[in-house]
Amino acid sequence: MNKAHKNHQIKIVHKPPFPETKNFPGNKPLDSKRLTPLSKTATTEGFLAAASKRKPVIVIDPGHGGKDPGATGSFGTKEKNITLKYSLALKKELEKTGKYKVVMTRKENKFISLSERVRIAQKAGGDVLISIHADSIANPDIQGFSVYTLSERRKDSEAKKLLEKANHEDVIRGANIKGESKDVQEAIINFAQDSSKDISNDFAATIGRNLGKEIHPLVKNQREGSLAVLTGADIPSVLIELGYLSNKYEEKALLDNNHMEKFVLSLTTAINEYFSKFNLVF
Ligand SMILES: [Zn+2]
Repeated sequence: MNKAHKNHQIKIVHKPPFPETKNFPGNKPLDSKRLTPLSKTATTEGFLAAASKRKPVIVIDPGHGGKDPGATGSFGTKEKNITLKYSLALKKELEKTGKYKVVMTRKENKFISLSERVRIAQKAGGDVLISIHADSIANPDIQGFSVYTLSERRKDSEAKKLLEKANHEDVIRGANIKGESKDVQEAIINFAQDSSKDISNDFAATIGRNLGKEIHPLVKNQREGSLAVLTGADIPSVLIELGYLSNKYEEKALLDNNHMEKFVLSLTTAINEYFSKFNLVF
């Protein structure tokens, strides 16, 4: 968490256990020979048929890095180091399952802009993007992890930007909207964002529930906020705040390998649970 993440509007999101989206954004165009002839690419069924032929791509995005340290704890822990450590541990655990392709937006202490992070995720064909951060707040008593999704407000401003770019580059995977009327472009962008948001909410809820079994959550552990990350239109995205570096007990806990292991195992369980709904794994 840094200054850019302030002013979260707290909202608990209740979603049905299965995303009711017709267009799972992971439904990218695949080699047509690999698709069954009847698969409808614009439906969830189409996605299931297509995606069962490949491993889900999970993009892990360790927050901050390089000249941007993020928050600093009372013992001097830098957010950028904690996020990288947890992200690398998660990558290792996910790869151990053999079920996923894992892509990192950074693997070292390096500054990467937000747009570059999104570009990496889109280029990798990410099915989900998991951004990892650690929080900091003036009140030293506050502690607990939290899970965020992309906010409505951010989405609107993002839609405008995407619309401006739509005639120059591909802004939505699998949909060439160059040359379409502005209304059509807008409708397609909004649709991709809505689908992405439903899936993000469902994914965030799965993560929150699983982490909550092992780790102390912030009282409201799923919130939507205006976050300075996760601006891709069509990749379901969540942001996990590991805990508060401004709380000295939690800062110590975050440095503890057993704590990290609990985090990583719970996240892996959540990811397995999430993708098993789509029969992608197991
Ligand atoms: Zn942060």
